Amino acid sequence: DKEVVEKNESKPSVGLSGRKIVYDKDGKPCRTCNTLQDFQFVTAGLTPAAAAVAVPVPAKKVEAEPSSPCNTIAGGYSKDYPPDVEVLGKSSWTLLHSIAATYPENPTSKEQQDLKQFVTLFGNFYPCWFCKADFVKYIEKNDPQVNSQDKFGKWLCEAHNEVNVKLGKPKFDCNLWKQRWKDGWDN
Ligand code: FAD
Repeated sequence: DKEVVEKNESKPSVGLSGRKIVYDKDGKPCRTCNTLQDFQFVTAGLTPAAAAVAVPVPAKKVEAEPSSPCNTIAGGYSKDYPPDVEVLGKSSWTLLHSIAATYPENPTSKEQQDLKQFVTLFGNFYPCWFCKADFVKYIEKNDPQVNSQDKFGKWLCEAHNEVNVKLGKPKFDCNLWKQRWKDGWDN
């Protein structure tokens, strides 16, 4: 509907990572849906034939090296790139699981309502459009469990596992969500 995958036949459909290149509805590569390296690869404008024989393009990602003047802009900020699908994902999960970790153990009905609304809106505004589509569907099928901290932590863990499975990653043991996101592993 809103956006399309592989809209433009003249552009590569697969990136150097082996992942499908995801395009927005205007035909441009989606920055928040691809890895930075794939995004830079496809925006370099290679034809499919060239892409087939292309050697990996070193990502022009600039690591933060505050001491190097080449990597900084006026004001001293490092030249960090806008987030790709992985940076965005990791940061988002960190925020969501941290919210679970600080959510009250016995929330009021207002807090429950607010959290449910937050999760729904978070899904609706998630910047990677194809991630969003699946997450919104997941929420529709699996009502966010917001009536206690542990219930929400586990619900979120299951939602995260759904994405892990989709990406071929191992499932996380949801009994351990508090060690990972709240208490640490030492106790
Ligand atoms: P992440 O998956 O980001 O996990 C970060 C850390 O969380 C891990 O190191 C681990 O310690 C912990 N963790 C892992 N699993 C769980 C769990 N189940 N419960 C609790 N903690 C856990 N990427 C795509 O390519 N396609 C998608 O469709 C997609 N959909 C997404 C939908 C949402 C709502 C979000 C927030 C992200 C999505 N992503 C998607 C991004 C993807 O989930 C990863 O964030 C990204 O691939 C980076 O993975 P990572 O290996 O750094 O670890």
